Amino acid sequence: MRDPSVSRNTAGRLSPIRRTSDLRRLRDEEFDVLVIGGGVTGAGAAVDAASRGLKVALVEARDFAAGTSSRSSKLIHGGLRYLEQLELHLVHEALTERGLLATRLAPHLVRPVPIMVPLPAANPAKRVWQRGYYGLGVAAYDVFAGVFGGGRGMPLHRHLSRNGARHLFPSLQADKISGAIRYYDGQVDDARLVVNLARTAAAQGAAVVTSARVTGFVREARQVVGVRVKDLEAPGSPEFEVRAKTVVAATGVWSDDMSAMLRDVGLRPGLRVRASKGVHLVVPRSAITGEAGLILRTATSVLFVLPWGGHWIIGTTDTDWQLDRSHPAASARDIRYLLDQVNEVLDRPLTTDDIEGVYAGLRPLLSGEADSTSKLSREHAVVEPMLGLLLVAGGKYTTYRVMAADVIDRTVRRLGGPARESRTDQLPLLGADGYAAAWRDRQDMARRHGVTTGVVEHLLERYGTLTVHLLAMMAADPELAVPLDGAPEYLAAEVAYAALAEGALHLDDVLTRRTRISIETAHRGAETAEHAARVMGAVLGWDETVRRREVEHYQARVTAERESQTMPDDLAADAARVGAPDVRGLTADRRAVLLEADL
Ligand SMILES: Cc1cc2nc3c(=O)[nH]c(=O)nc-3n(C[C@H](O)[C@H](O)[C@H](O)COP(=O)(O)OP(=O)(O)OC[C@H]3O[C@@H](n4cnc5c(N)ncnc54)[C@H](O)[C@@H]3O)c2cc1C
Repeated sequence: MRDPSVSRNTAGRLSPIRRTSDLRRLRDEEFDVLVIGGGVTGAGAAVDAASRGLKVALVEARDFAAGTSSRSSKLIHGGLRYLEQLELHLVHEALTERGLLATRLAPHLVRPVPIMVPLPAANPAKRVWQRGYYGLGVAAYDVFAGVFGGGRGMPLHRHLSRNGARHLFPSLQADKISGAIRYYDGQVDDARLVVNLARTAAAQGAAVVTSARVTGFVREARQVVGVRVKDLEAPGSPEFEVRAKTVVAATGVWSDDMSAMLRDVGLRPGLRVRASKGVHLVVPRSAITGEAGLILRTATSVLFVLPWGGHWIIGTTDTDWQLDRSHPAASARDIRYLLDQVNEVLDRPLTTDDIEGVYAGLRPLLSGEADSTSKLSREHAVVEPMLGLLLVAGGKYTTYRVMAADVIDRTVRRLGGPARESRTDQLPLLGADGYAAAWRDRQDMARRHGVTTGVVEHLLERYGTLTVHLLAMMAADPELAVPLDGAPEYLAAEVAYAALAEGALHLDDVLTRRTRISIETAHRGAETAEHAARVMGAVLGWDETVRRREVEHYQARVTAERESQTMPDDLAADAARVGAPDVRGLTADRRAVLLEADL
């Protein structure tokens, strides 16, 4: 449990020293609950358990949100289309979560984004029907969110005429629409919210360690009593055991791997997860003129065109994926599909030259009988395949807190002792406390710290009230106040802070997840790598060899990704992408080679 004399923010600082001490805790202590997986579900479960007063450990094989949780459409949403499928309880649940996140838990990270539902051009009778049908759906969406509740966190919807729609989105082909409805959903930097959750768990006393891969379960008789862990930052060191009264596996598309670790006992996992790939494109804001996002119906699903800072995010696809789950690759076919879909409605067609970034993620879908992945359930499940082990999977990002509460409810029941209710609906994440006031006073804050209001706004929307720490770092070291080479919207201080307080261990962590430079620049971070490595290396004590290795790895990754995106299909794209392995594996391999060379 956290020492009350230590401030919450300090206690939530995931520094290199903290990693060393948390690793020691993993070896020495027995935990009430050990969570495997630092995606949104696992990090959320760690927050839930720690805030109930349990002794918690969270281990992640790579980096926070390195799996699906950094590769979503970045919407905190009820799912307008689930309304159409009459899955009303799911919509209501998700909209409640949306309201909580936007108003209380993470207002610094979750913001309203306007989205337009264009009404296709049609004869007058069909036009009336369409407006009635979609209008009713969007109105119901607002009602489910609580029209009169202060906790809704989003403005209400509005009907737009054809001219109104054209005014809001000039790039829409005028003859394709008869009008539109504008509604709001939440938008989030998905990777940043996960880091924030992990830090919030750490602030509540959890031991939180990344680059810590679980390789097996420790069992006594027919009960799981812990896990075996490999520290990927110390490849020469032996695996070690971590003891826990309950193990929670929140491993998304890797859930079946967890079940496979128990294969020798002949247990049925009770839950199977299959992966469906979703690809997104990122294009500059100037490529499309519009003040709102778009949601478009496609033959199999929906397509979003969403404003994202100085960019647009366009996605997504929905296809079965059985290849490398760590680095799902987008093929030229995926990219062509997305361009074709969006070009159906844009007045200036986008081409591959417009693309700045591409990313692919894998939906962890609970296996069902349906033969099309888009029909599989997005709902989650919690199962206990063996005493002491709970698996939680499925669901969606928006409802991570519900999944977390469900699995920790089960954990608490297992542990016995006092009833402990989930309190996470009352627990603002780090940086959320006092955010509204900080935002109101941002001009004063800028004046006080001698920076522009733009800089303060950028930081507030990424760090909330923790912004003061970054401003202090910039004041102490002017080299941290400069923009990053090749990505001037980010500051050097953000890279230093990522290594100092946000658990970033590799250049990839910083360029891909703490910042989104890898998808927001046409060079995909290649022109930022040197500068970022210098700043990061100064915090982490990298020598020239390590610095060079990190930059080389990052450049190799960019090259492999680019190549994969020219390949005609998944198989060829995957083969090209695996040419640049994960930096964590690379660290291990290279060090092993160096050790052998020394001998
Ligand atoms: C294209 C796409 C778009 C989406 N858009 C949205 C959206 O807009 N809104 C929404 O609400 N949801 C969306 N989703 C769904 C949402 O992103 C996922 O449901 C959610 O991120 C899953 O999180 P998770 O924590 O369960 O899995 P993950 O984020 O994949 O986390 C699992 C973690 O477990 C770790 N792990 C695996 N094996 C081990 C091991 N042996 N030891 C230690 N760690 C291990 C992995 O490294 C990984 O970090 C989208 C999904 C996709 C693919």
